[in-house]
Amino acid sequence: MQHVDVVIVGAGLSGLTAARELVGMGKTVTVLEARDRVGGRIEGGTIDGRPVELGGTWIGAGHEEMYGLVEELGLETFRSWNKGSILLHLSGKQSRLASHKGATPKLNPFALADLAQGLLRWERLATGIDPARPWAHPKAHELDGQTYESWVRRNLRTASGRAYFRIVAEALFSADAQDLSLLHALFYSRSNGDLETLISVDDGAQQDRVIGGSVLVAERLAEGLDVRLGRPVRTVAQSDSGVVVTTRSGEHHRAQQVIVAIPPTLAGRIEYEPLMPAWRDQLTQRLPAGTVVKTFATYPTPFWRDNGLNGQVISDQGPVKVSFDVSPPDAETGVMLGFVEGGDARRWQRLPERDRRRAVLDCFVRYFGPQAGEPLSYLEKNWSAEEFTRGCYGAHFGPGTWTSYGDILREPVGRIHWAGAEYAVDWNGYMEGAVRSGRHTAGVVATQLD
Ligand code: FAD
Repeated sequence: MQHVDVVIVGAGLSGLTAARELVGMGKTVTVLEARDRVGGRIEGGTIDGRPVELGGTWIGAGHEEMYGLVEELGLETFRSWNKGSILLHLSGKQSRLASHKGATPKLNPFALADLAQGLLRWERLATGIDPARPWAHPKAHELDGQTYESWVRRNLRTASGRAYFRIVAEALFSADAQDLSLLHALFYSRSNGDLETLISVDDGAQQDRVIGGSVLVAERLAEGLDVRLGRPVRTVAQSDSGVVVTTRSGEHHRAQQVIVAIPPTLAGRIEYEPLMPAWRDQLTQRLPAGTVVKTFATYPTPFWRDNGLNGQVISDQGPVKVSFDVSPPDAETGVMLGFVEGGDARRWQRLPERDRRRAVLDCFVRYFGPQAGEPLSYLEKNWSAEEFTRGCYGAHFGPGTWTSYGDILREPVGRIHWAGAEYAVDWNGYMEGAVRSGRHTAGVVATQLD
């Protein structure tokens, strides 16, 4: 049996960052990864021979650790295409929205005033949340006792204002407004700056992409580390003398400490000896992953740009309600990305392949014209179908979870520590959060080693 200082379960960004930190401190580390690749929720794919990101894609405002890593690992970024207008489809009406952060949509005066006051109220409420301790807010129980949807109904008066807020929930959480605790949505918004930052391209979360694909960050992080692929971990057993981690194939790895760097729901599916305390298991039962499918269609050129459109859509009619132009930097082909999220994805993913494709392309035609109906290629990536992810972008908290279990979310259980985008205080849910969480947990674990 191998004996190292730390075994890390999962070679996503958080696990790899934690491993790199610990190795940098002179510790011995083995990373056990279930898949036959590193990166987890970031994955490289190709369409028409060109790289596309099947999972995590953009980095942007405030993602300092990610920009730092990109540079350190010898990679470069390029700007997301953002010239031209965003298309807004709300309440049966289509309008154009300037692409800069904070631009005012062209809605009727009632809807506009409604939306403006809704955003103002939201930011006022979110400012009071401490992302390190959302449960400590003086009104935490009141905020956690209601859904984002009930807040939308109480605070927005027009159909367009409500639709806008609901699409934001789907786009950010790949869940529906009624799935989310209001406290959680406020926490998330605060953890990631504010709502405007989250949905914007320039000066926002979608500003830049890594040339060659974000997965290169994970692949380069893994170089020189002891990463064992194809090793799904089944059991973690801890005792006074250490931890034994056992894979499905029966391979044992002994360590002083273990970092479980996988999404919380999946962490709950590992067998622990002794059993996880009741509170920890109950927590992992309450952190469902969102539902998201990325769909791609390619065209000879990004033709929507000729019509003054930047390829981004915000629509209240699915299944694709949000889209982006993810063409390569040289724009030699046009690549349109359509997100199918939340309730739309739950229904749409059960359709036969031909009907799914038709429904997506119908959306693209509605937004960009008949040319969009005849792509060169079409591709789907369903993250709920992935055995070692089971849903994306990440876990969300329903009502009551933060106030009942928030204080133990990041607490180790004996020699077992947790890392991942879901545990991050800042930039929770994003690649940046995964890296920060990995670094933080590595620091804590280092203090526990002999
Ligand atoms: P993961 O990447 O999930 O890593 C966990 C690893 O553990 C995986 O490699 C998995 O295979 C492995 N594993 C699971 N179970 C076991 C087991 N039993 N034994 C061993 N190994 C196991 N973030 C952004 O910043 N920008 C974006 O544009 C963005 N877009 C996204 C779009 C999509 C479609 C998705 C899916 C995610 C997106 N994200 C984005 C989120 C981002 O990708 C994640 O937050 C981040 O990559 C999570 O990293 P992690 O290390 O916490 O977890």
